[in-house]
Amino acid sequence: MSASPSVSGKASEAYDVVVVGAGFAGMYMLHKLRGQGFSARVYEQGDGVGGTWYWNRYPGARCDVESMQYSYSFSDELQQEWDWSERYAPQPEILKYANHVADRFNLRPDIQFNTTVERTDFNESTNLWSVALSDGKTVIAKFVVLATGCLSNARMPEIKGLDSFEGKVYHTGHWPHEAVDFTGQRVGVIGTGSSGIQSVPVIAEQASHLTVFQRTANFSIPARNAVLSEEERQSFRAKYPEVRHFARVESRNGIYTEMPDRGALDDGDNERRSKYEARWNRGGLTFMSVYNNLGLDKTANDTAADFVREKIAEIVEDPETARLLQPTSHPIGTKRICFDTEYFSAFNRPNVTLVDIKSNPIEEITANAVRTGGREYEVDALVLATGFDAMTGSVARIDIRGRNGQALNQKWAEGPRTYLGLMSAGFPNLFVITGPGSPSVLSNMIVSIEQHVDWITDCVSYMRGRGFEAMEAKKDAEDNWVAHVNEVAYATLYPTANSWYMGANVPGKPRIFMPYIGGVGPYRQICNEVAAKGYEGFAMVGTEQPRKMAAS
Ligand code: FAD
Ligand code: NAP
Repeated sequence: MSASPSVSGKASEAYDVVVVGAGFAGMYMLHKLRGQGFSARVYEQGDGVGGTWYWNRYPGARCDVESMQYSYSFSDELQQEWDWSERYAPQPEILKYANHVADRFNLRPDIQFNTTVERTDFNESTNLWSVALSDGKTVIAKFVVLATGCLSNARMPEIKGLDSFEGKVYHTGHWPHEAVDFTGQRVGVIGTGSSGIQSVPVIAEQASHLTVFQRTANFSIPARNAVLSEEERQSFRAKYPEVRHFARVESRNGIYTEMPDRGALDDGDNERRSKYEARWNRGGLTFMSVYNNLGLDKTANDTAADFVREKIAEIVEDPETARLLQPTSHPIGTKRICFDTEYFSAFNRPNVTLVDIKSNPIEEITANAVRTGGREYEVDALVLATGFDAMTGSVARIDIRGRNGQALNQKWAEGPRTYLGLMSAGFPNLFVITGPGSPSVLSNMIVSIEQHVDWITDCVSYMRGRGFEAMEAKKDAEDNWVAHVNEVAYATLYPTANSWYMGANVPGKPRIFMPYIGGVGPYRQICNEVAAKGYEGFAMVGTEQPRKMAAS
């Protein structure tokens, strides 16, 4: 431990910054802080780095932003040297990459694994946070950074009888470390979001029979995964400066691609169809950016949704199964769109059955079966691909007390409130990485993570340089930002869907469109302008005199 002069004398362990979580956000945060001479300690509840890629080890798990882009950009050596094997790397390879980064930048000595941050309290007289850990210790920090992840709180469904099931139950977001082999087993998958859609074709190849329980049909585009050749990697690496610049500054979603120059209704039927066909054949996340109004105009959106529905009908042989797999409950893209490898065609296999649990909700899970519509589907194992308490779930698990002992959970009871997604009024020196109110989950998240980490590091360096003790979002700045986030969201079709973006997947969670849909590039510009104006909208406490923190 390296105690910081600025916070020393308060506890046996004191740091300039405590970082919660050792996923891509926490790891890069630590690296940046150390580079600026801050003492920092990361606490991670798992026993390894990688976050999402540590926990989500289900069959078929892989990224759906291309790996050459879904990777850190902060080290050119790293991006030039790391060899991604496939267009979308599988989970084990992404986890290997996270471990490589931890070793390459010698991060492990400052990460304490198997340790959950349980509670943190702000002391108004010292402007310091005390951080209570699951190992019984309490440490002191000037700043706390929540790098706790937006999709890190796996949600168990509330289904009657689940506890009485006698076979194995797996949640995709909490998958065992040892290999799970479904060979010869009857498997039930509940949930058809991205995790279910990735795992179904792989489990179908192993299981003697796979029953997929679908509540809401989802739009999915072929990923068109492929092995990357050395030539492809090299040509991509050569254009990294342009790719990364575009993703950060010009894009809306942190992805390098062509920008649409027209709306879907500006083209005639044949032209439009051939564009959708080309994107369908290309595969991947750029399907939705073929036109600039698919997220805005329902009629335009319908043209893309109809195209995908037709594709499903072409692929799936049984007309009734095809009909059930065609999404009709929401405009395409308003729930996180999925990318698959042979998902729809998996339903042509004789060992795969689709069960509609929208019309006939699951009544009960028994010792060996799922009962719905008065029928029992016998299974040996259950896979719950039921998603996460997204964006706020992992923050809410920590008892965070700000000024006057106010609990963040209480403040956010009607929905999260932040300024720029970075800070919440009443909680000084507490930052959230990719928090609600920032583009986060609507983007290539590594781009958004790097932007937040860089901004936070600049901010705490600024405070150190001027001797500020504390920084806090002003209430009016927060109110204005929340209003702006809502205004932008409600100008789109997104809030019309019962999505996890809206908190709609968690019974009782307030319906708020949580991420900022204004775009990665414009958002970065706003954050930069706020910083350039001396952190406009934030109140700084303390005298404006340079003060020393650790190693400064
Ligand atoms: P995480 O990776 O979630 O890490 C947070 C860490 O904090 C976890 O390890 C957790 O254990 C730890 N933690 C939380 N609370 C505490 C606590 N109280 N005490 C101690 N530790 C704590 N995004 C993309 O952009 N492209 C993709 O292709 C993509 N694919 C995904 C696939 C899956 C299956 C999932 C679930 C998400 C995917 N995402 C993708 C989103 C993904 O979460 C982010 O890209 C990114 O990995 C998030 O990194 P993070 O460090 O912010 O959070
Ligand atoms: P999700 O998108 O929230 O999907 C959960 C699924 O479970 C939905 O089909 C949902 O149905 C169903 N479900 C939830 N509770 C249920 C219940 N009680 N009974 C029956 N069905 C229930 O979760 P996810 O698939 O894990 O994905 C979450 C996010 O993680 C994604 O949107 C994406 O951002 C990220 N992710 C990315 C990838 C990738 O390809 N790289 C892979 C996995 C995850 P309803 O829709 O009806 O609620």
